[in-house]
Amino acid sequence: MIKENLAQVEKNIRQACEKAGRAREEVTLIAVSKTKPIEMLQEAYAENIRDFGENKVQELCGKMEQLPSDIRWHMIGHLQRNKVKYIVGRTALIHSVDTYRLAEEINIQAKKKRIVVPILVEVNIAHEESKFGISAEDAILLVEDISKLENIRIKGLMTVAPYVENPEDNRPYFQKIKQLSVDITNKNIDNVSMEILSMGMTGDYMVAIEEGATMVRVGTGIFGERNYKQE
Ligand SMILES: *Cc1c(COP(=O)(O)O)cnc(C)c1O
Repeated sequence: MIKENLAQVEKNIRQACEKAGRAREEVTLIAVSKTKPIEMLQEAYAENIRDFGENKVQELCGKMEQLPSDIRWHMIGHLQRNKVKYIVGRTALIHSVDTYRLAEEINIQAKKKRIVVPILVEVNIAHEESKFGISAEDAILLVEDISKLENIRIKGLMTVAPYVENPEDNRPYFQKIKQLSVDITNKNIDNVSMEILSMGMTGDYMVAIEEGATMVRVGTGIFGERNYKQE
């Protein structure tokens, strides 16, 4: 099932890239494997998936130990400061930095390990109360503050768009965050690049790609529905 799902997702990504006049290589597919068992990740790995997304530190670290070391792990969920030390240096990218205090802790842990940690700033583009992320209005100031931390590099923005029936409803939000990333680029802030735009999930990743996503985070579309009750 995972093999077939991945083939379909790949087809959709290619179609969206073609429609937008973009090269397939511009978009990285992150397989969001949260709550799913190791065997399912191994199946995706066998289909050449090397980017996996998890939203809980403990689950991410557990899976990491059981799977090949050439996997790039993406922390996509809300991150508590007291858990930062477990993932710094082990993840390819932390997508969910939305406060200066969290960035400060990442910087402290990175300094201890003498590394520079790539991150994205998470923006709550639709102002949803239930969601994490900094508002678009405050994002530039946060980026400027974080950019002064020596052991962090801001690589772009991430957003979780609203849950919608019709993916077209999210197009304006994707356009808005793309514009925000252009505005930040134009500010020429030291240590900041806007090369990554992490947006688009199972319900709307094709629209997100049309609007400039460079990373799409697809869970259900690859691994099927999540059953949280069994957890
Ligand atoms: C769970 C999750 C996804 C994947 O969601 P699907 O709708 O299953 O594709 C993407 N991004 C984040 C931040 C998530 O928590």
